[in-house]
Amino acid sequence: MIKREEVEDEGGLTVGNIRSYYKCEVCGYVTLVRTQYGWLDSHPIRYTCGNCKILIKGIAILDQQNADFRIDIENASLVSPENEADFYIETSGELLTEKLQPYNSETHWYIPPPFFRGLWGMGDPSDPQSGYEKFDIFKKNVISFLHTTKNEWPRIRRINELWHHENHEYLVQEVRKVLPKKQFPMNNRLEYLRGVHFITKFFLQPVISYEHNETIFRELKSLFEQNPANMIELSRYFKDHYRSYDRRILRIIEHFTEVFKFLIPAYGLTYYHEISEDLVEKKGMTTAAFEDIKEFYIDTYEFVAEIVPIIIGYNNLKYRDDFKKMSDTKPKYEFDKFLEAHKGKKVEYIDGTEVFDSLIVDGSIDNKIRNAIGHNTYEFDGISQLIKYDPVGKNKPSDIREMYLVQFAGKCLSIFQTVVHIWELLYQTEKHLYVSQGMKSVNPAVFSMNHLEQKAIKEKVRSKKKSEKRMKKLIKKQKRKK
Ligand SMILES: [Zn+2]
Repeated sequence: MIKREEVEDEGGLTVGNIRSYYKCEVCGYVTLVRTQYGWLDSHPIRYTCGNCKILIKGIAILDQQNADFRIDIENASLVSPENEADFYIETSGELLTEKLQPYNSETHWYIPPPFFRGLWGMGDPSDPQSGYEKFDIFKKNVISFLHTTKNEWPRIRRINELWHHENHEYLVQEVRKVLPKKQFPMNNRLEYLRGVHFITKFFLQPVISYEHNETIFRELKSLFEQNPANMIELSRYFKDHYRSYDRRILRIIEHFTEVFKFLIPAYGLTYYHEISEDLVEKKGMTTAAFEDIKEFYIDTYEFVAEIVPIIIGYNNLKYRDDFKKMSDTKPKYEFDKFLEAHKGKKVEYIDGTEVFDSLIVDGSIDNKIRNAIGHNTYEFDGISQLIKYDPVGKNKPSDIREMYLVQFAGKCLSIFQTVVHIWELLYQTEKHLYVSQGMKSVNPAVFSMNHLEQKAIKEKVRSKKKSEKRMKKLIKKQKRKK
């Protein structure tokens, strides 16, 4: 039995919530699950039974067209609201929610839903309207990314795969379907690389920041003036690795498209005006359990740790005028040996003192949580959403650390952002190699960003209209069948 609840804010905006009562199939305790229905067609639900502590997993499905809503859940059964609830939890696919707590009929008959709290968090207190504006951007970006993931990602993946397998004939054929020939002639390796990179970058753009590219462009330009010969040498040094790095990055991007739905409430935090210190302690997320996202973190970590030498190479070139000349003030390594160093040592080498270190987002590379996941020395409490982890693995109380699930989800996002920065650096480095081999890039005069963006937008509108048409046809068909 499901009860609808419409809540109105001061501005007259109506927000829908669904109250459903779920009885744990093990201990019989009842949880009132208050689901905020927002703008996602479906979203995962994860919560822990407050009594016997088992994980209850499900999916909320919202059929916007038929105004229908249902939750498919395992390990608990829907019961009638006459049952007195023992626990209360909120769920949302998009926003932070109240954590599981004992049900209290006096306080829980009404509390502001997650949507309002999200608006308040995103808004500047001195400008109440700003919360709505930021929320709209957040919503637009998430929907756009989920839409392109569903509809465009398979094509983007195959274009990347054709490039990795050097299937240039098919590569040109596939890229031509998406990009204009004038700006993307696809007539040499340099142009193949540029076409593939552009398409993939465009795909990630709704949820990824490219602000950091300015630092990369600025630094590389000045290095090229400082020591062009050494810069070309650097790009040659990595020449046998570019394709294997690309393959790893493609797998990470694919993994990201799979886990993004678990991370949306943490992603929403990037739109907050201010994040209070106790926010993660008090509010949680019900889109994911720790197990849903930990693999993504450690797989991505492994790659970043392996690729650190290219960052160090650029630091060496900038500060010591030779990409192989390592710092005197840090642990002693030869550059060639550094490539084979233990991953933990490579990560430690980055200490934020040199400019290319800034490509690693602060706090994203956390070898303590990585080690605890790797050694299985962690515990996740689904109720408080606290991850307790032991990086050393000797079970000494002084070694145990803590982190909330929302914070860990934030690390998953920032480690992915880090990969995107490194990917850009690799791309620029490989481009230098081809330019040094005499390959010509397209004349910048034909390359008007505005023109391209307009084309891409037109394409998007067209494909959206097409998919809406298909959807309408399908619904008609199904109705006829009935
Ligand atoms: Zn239970």
